[in-house]
Amino acid sequence: MLNFSTLLPAGHQVLGAYEYEGLLVFLSYLIASAAGYTALAMADWVTTSRSRRGSELAKLIGAIALGGGIWSMHFLAMLSFKISIHVHYDPLQTLTSLLIAIAVSYTVMHLIGRESLSTTQYLLASLAAGLGIAAMHYTGMLAMHSVAQQIYDPLLVAVSVVIASLASLAALLLAFRLRGRTGLRTVWLRLLGSLGLGFAIVSMHFTGMAALTLAVPVGFVPEDSPGMIQHLELGTGIAIGTLFIIMAGLLAAWAGERFHAQRLRLERVSTTLDQISLHDPLTHLLNGSSFIQTVDRAVSQARNDEQFALLMLDVDHFKRINDSLGHALGDELLVQVAQRIRAVLDNDLPLARYAGDEFSLLLPLGTRGDSQPLALRLLEQLRPPFELAGQRIAMTFSLGIAHYPQDGTNAGQLLRSAGLAVGHCKRSGRNRSQRFANELQREADDLLSLEMDLRHALTQGGLHLAYQPIVVPDGRPLALEALVRWQHPTLGALSPERFVRVAEETGLIGELDGWVMRQACADIAQLHREGYRDLRVSVNCSALNLGDRLLPQAIARALQAEDLPASALILEVTENALMHSLNVAIEVIGEIRTLGVRVSIDDFGSGYSSLAYLSRLPVDSLKVDRAFVRTIPHQHNDMAIAAAIIAMAHKLGLKVVAEGVETTEQRDFLHANDCDFMQGYLFSRPVPLPQLRSWLQQQASVTALPA
Ligand code: C2E
Ligand code: CA
Ligand code: CA
Repeated sequence: MLNFSTLLPAGHQVLGAYEYEGLLVFLSYLIASAAGYTALAMADWVTTSRSRRGSELAKLIGAIALGGGIWSMHFLAMLSFKISIHVHYDPLQTLTSLLIAIAVSYTVMHLIGRESLSTTQYLLASLAAGLGIAAMHYTGMLAMHSVAQQIYDPLLVAVSVVIASLASLAALLLAFRLRGRTGLRTVWLRLLGSLGLGFAIVSMHFTGMAALTLAVPVGFVPEDSPGMIQHLELGTGIAIGTLFIIMAGLLAAWAGERFHAQRLRLERVSTTLDQISLHDPLTHLLNGSSFIQTVDRAVSQARNDEQFALLMLDVDHFKRINDSLGHALGDELLVQVAQRIRAVLDNDLPLARYAGDEFSLLLPLGTRGDSQPLALRLLEQLRPPFELAGQRIAMTFSLGIAHYPQDGTNAGQLLRSAGLAVGHCKRSGRNRSQRFANELQREADDLLSLEMDLRHALTQGGLHLAYQPIVVPDGRPLALEALVRWQHPTLGALSPERFVRVAEETGLIGELDGWVMRQACADIAQLHREGYRDLRVSVNCSALNLGDRLLPQAIARALQAEDLPASALILEVTENALMHSLNVAIEVIGEIRTLGVRVSIDDFGSGYSSLAYLSRLPVDSLKVDRAFVRTIPHQHNDMAIAAAIIAMAHKLGLKVVAEGVETTEQRDFLHANDCDFMQGYLFSRPVPLPQLRSWLQQQASVTALPA
């Protein structure tokens, strides 16, 4: 116990026993508990808030509520201290003690916001908080000015610091345990915890008060304290104010919790959406982006020597189904394809509809597996006809295969390699499978450099035209077919089949055919001026261009520029691989014919010509494919087909041109079967304009041109 004889200042005596105003003590306990509750609630908000701003705000509100609460509790408790001397509080020191309380609380809130704390961190943090609360308490005490001097018992002061530290430790542990939890149980736990915390804070205060002895000058006459009443009013005021602060904090915490719950709901919804966004809604297979993720995950987790095969399966001529049977049946076909593929695979193999009519799957190969058996089984499974709206329709497929790690080390590379292999299948006749090989990469590279060279040729010159006459059976020319030629600077003369395909694959075909159209119109206009007034020009038009609704305008402009009548122009459209969208193509062809331009179907019979198809296309004539002409007179089948095509075309009111006529036998057979026009080496090879002029002059001297 304190030895007052040594501690008492000279001429001072101890100021008797003190009493406390019960109501204020009780209020201070309530405030401490409420502050504790708010702090715990805000601690939850601090940890669940995703945004930095949100968690900073929560920390601040928590710090103000907790700090303000602890401070008012102390202040109130001090006011409840009944002594019979006049007391005055120094405002600056009082404010300082409040700021200390808030700063300590902020630190505690900040710690709670961390992922986790080690045991040492817990202890250090609690000790710091305890010291902070004590600092606040004793600063608050020093703000109290009166005739009395304050003397403290160091042992009890130390005990008060220990109590404050233990209270802080309890608060930290509780806050960590309860954070992120919701529900009634948590609210009760929090309530109970805060009552305990309130008790600890109040105990700390009264231990601190017990450490205090007031010494007044000897002979001091205790005042009859009217100040006490004032204290009571002031204290009640502070209490109410504090309760408001705390209630605001609670309100914020409640709002935070609501907000949190709502976000949890939103997160659940977004997980469901994720689930949906991972799958293709039509086939319920994985979609492209989730397939990429799956592949990347698989290869990144692959053991050293583990191999995979990525198979990419593309439906040949899928557009044809969409165009002729409609999108609903196109979708139905994709669903059936998906089911057949699934039936061949183990259930857990990742299978995706990668894009449109492209399916991809990932097959683990172990250390030395082979993808060929599965590839064959897949194509076998897809061979039987599909049942679509009562029709049985056989489809073929192109299958590209890429192996990990040889053909690519991530999803992007593997898909690219498999895609190149699919492209190769398509070019070599479809209905096959192909493993990626480095040549395919070279092919792709060549394609790219050819594209750049072609672009250059289109803008800087390098293309020119050859013309081949189309004649009536007696040899008189009706029209000239314009055939594009390209003398490549390093590769020499390239076959138009090759670079036209490059143009089609790279989107240059519109420009290429546009250039041919303008040049052909200029040349034929020149020939008109030279006297060949009835000569027409026949220009090839890639089916891809028929998707362009501006094509009729471009044709009209080309004619106008040369002051040519529309009847001087024939447009040859390859029916094979027709068309992105049949309906648009039909409209565009219709508009072109409205201009007065004739439209002819090229290479008829070579691809997927069907009568149904043909009857929908508004055209003037068709060109029997070279293949049927070449075998005359040896292949009776082909001859029968050629004759049938001519007869059928005539029934539909179409004129017929036979191309590739090389012999007089061929000419005679076609003539005997009423073929209207012919074209081929027998009459003339495709030649540049000057040479063609000589040919025309020669013809004119043999047969008189019609007026
Ligand atoms: P196509 O439209 O069927 O053109 C006829 C092709 O048959 C020409 O080949 C021509 O030289 C060749 N030919 C003509 N008479 C005979 C013959 O008696 N016997 C044989 N064996 N062949 C004959 P070319 O000039 O190599 O053109 C090939 C293809 O390139 C064309 O086939 C056409 O599809 C395309 N093409 C040519 N120029 C253009 C163009 O300006 N635009 C577009 N989109 N395609 C073009
Ligand atoms: Ca042609
Ligand atoms: Ca042709």
